Amino acid sequence: MGDMDEIKNDAALKASRHSGGSISMKTEDRIWAVAEEFAAQFQAKATRLRTDLMKARQRVAELEAEFDASMQAFKRLADFQVIREGEYQCARCGIFRGAQAAMKGRPGRHQLDLFKCDTCGFEMEAPQ
Ligand SMILES: [Zn+2]
Repeated sequence: MGDMDEIKNDAALKASRHSGGSISMKTEDRIWAVAEEFAAQFQAKATRLRTDLMKARQRVAELEAEFDASMQAFKRLADFQVIREGEYQCARCGIFRGAQAAMKGRPGRHQLDLFKCDTCGFEMEAPQ
């Protein structure tokens, strides 16, 4: 919706019409009042837009942070060590945070071991 659609023209329509062509104080005052009303409507709109802009900028900042983190994933994968100091490492910590974190294994079901990350709590099954 454009500015001109949103700003009401009612005030202008309500203005009293004078048939005479002479400069009138009443006409001048009335035009001034209509102009002030238009300005007040734009001011109210500006207040709404300020809030909308703040929310949009916040969202842009969030998206940029998520984008940057997403762009890091393959670099983190390249740096990720599956085993470090004799311990299996958490894939989630490795890719989400670029951190090495040990996972403890214990026997699970169906000839699978259940691994759990000490740091983030991530769990996964892997063949024994
Ligand atoms: Zn983890």
